[in-house]
Amino acid sequence: MSENNAKLIIVSAPSGCGKGTIMHRAFENSDVFYSVSCTTRPPRDEDTEGVTYHFLSVEAFEKMIAEDGFLEHACYSGNYYGTPRKPVEDNMAAGKDVILEIETQGAFQVKELRKDAYSLFILPPSIAELDRRLHKRATEDEKTIAKRVAQAAGEIAKADKYDYVIMNDDLDKAVEDFCAVINGIKGDAEPAERFSPKNEDVKKMIREVLENA
Ligand code: 5GP
Repeated sequence: MSENNAKLIIVSAPSGCGKGTIMHRAFENSDVFYSVSCTTRPPRDEDTEGVTYHFLSVEAFEKMIAEDGFLEHACYSGNYYGTPRKPVEDNMAAGKDVILEIETQGAFQVKELRKDAYSLFILPPSIAELDRRLHKRATEDEKTIAKRVAQAAGEIAKADKYDYVIMNDDLDKAVEDFCAVINGIKGDAEPAERFSPKNEDVKKMIREVLENA
């Protein structure tokens, strides 16, 4: 638990949901600390070492697990992903809000560990649309895309365990909703309870995404 008012905010969304774009726009002029994860997956063209990820070998990653260097870590699509512990703790101690962009297993580990963390899930409009976006991005082969789409369905089914759920159907609206949630968490606005999955509307939205496969 931080002694100051720094917030730990977890953002999850299946790949292809546009969360990178939303977050880039939402945090353009903000001084939040955006945690850079470690991963063992191979870099893609758009990746930059130390910016999008720290790319590690399996050996180096496992050494860091053994040294308790991760706040959380998980295996996703056959690769390790983990949040380095120290930068998160140092930035929170310095009073900065910290954003973790991680998948569901990691999100639940952090929520278990830090009861003061907030979680937000970004839904695609439908599984079919997610499949289309991953094909359009064309950074992965068919087999990988199929695996990611199947994984996405499993993750979306857990969206109701998050504090807030928004949808990226229209990008401008998604950025607006995202900012409403973040500003509510930071106490700069009313808590955005309309995005809580305790609401019937939000539950229905999650169900519909899953049904539109
Ligand atoms: P990608 O390979 O598309 O960059 O990321 C795959 C998934 O891993 C995404 O859902 C992303 O949010 C998640 N991810 C990225 N970094 C971490 C991390 O440090 N921990 C966990 N648990 N998941 C992560």
